[in-house]
Amino acid sequence: MRFLRSAREIAAMRRAGLVVWQAHQAAAALIRPGVTTAELDRAVAEVFEKVGAEPLFLGYPGPTPFPAVTCISVNEQVVHGIPSDRPLRDGDIVSLDTGCRFEGWCGDAAYTYAVGHVPLEEERLLEVTRGVLDLAIRLLEEKSRWSQVAREMQAFVEGAGFAVIRDFVGHAIGREMHEQPQVPNYYDPSWARTQDFELRPGLVLAIEPMVAMGTHQVKELADGWTQVTADGRPAAHFEHTVALTSDGARILTCAPQDGEATF
Ligand code: MG
Repeated sequence: MRFLRSAREIAAMRRAGLVVWQAHQAAAALIRPGVTTAELDRAVAEVFEKVGAEPLFLGYPGPTPFPAVTCISVNEQVVHGIPSDRPLRDGDIVSLDTGCRFEGWCGDAAYTYAVGHVPLEEERLLEVTRGVLDLAIRLLEEKSRWSQVAREMQAFVEGAGFAVIRDFVGHAIGREMHEQPQVPNYYDPSWARTQDFELRPGLVLAIEPMVAMGTHQVKELADGWTQVTADGRPAAHFEHTVALTSDGARILTCAPQDGEATF
């Protein structure tokens, strides 16, 4: 049911991860008040086109096929927002989530950005969400089962006064974007009893905590995709594709390291 990847396969997945990183950089460079979310999506799509990567979100099955290359979610939108002519405004927070398949392997990553000047509490929300992803990556090397990581993620977020979104979780990733097992960001005893898994070298996971300032409850908008917090308060989302190797955890969607070339 779950695949452990060889060093060679992980090296190939790193190439897909670099393309995803590069696409995120292209969009991030445009973020400012006035830019539309459709323009950000276009920048991501252009990078994928340029290198010949297959966008994985475009046409993703749902009530209607997902219409864009990137999920872009603003403020109270948690995930799965649809890019549009909506211009970003000073004080918004905007989450970009995208993935591609490159040379047969998938990469998936998300970042949330402040647009111009945001209130301190929003800044803290971004810090805590990025922080809980960093924590999870560190704990991959220390813990023996995912439930132990998830428990500490939840404690970290709740200790900061925020809530972990439960309706959406991370996933294993490889030839396909969404592979088993699921990777929750909170501790659920019934999940732990039936679906918990060992942290072993070769595991490649898309770890993607979503953190809300208020309630963890979400609702879906009429477009059939966009998920918003039930209380209308902001939420943030950070994600990396991460491989657990015999030398420790390795982020596959990070910036080029040690002379790695981009495309
Ligand atoms: Mg994902």
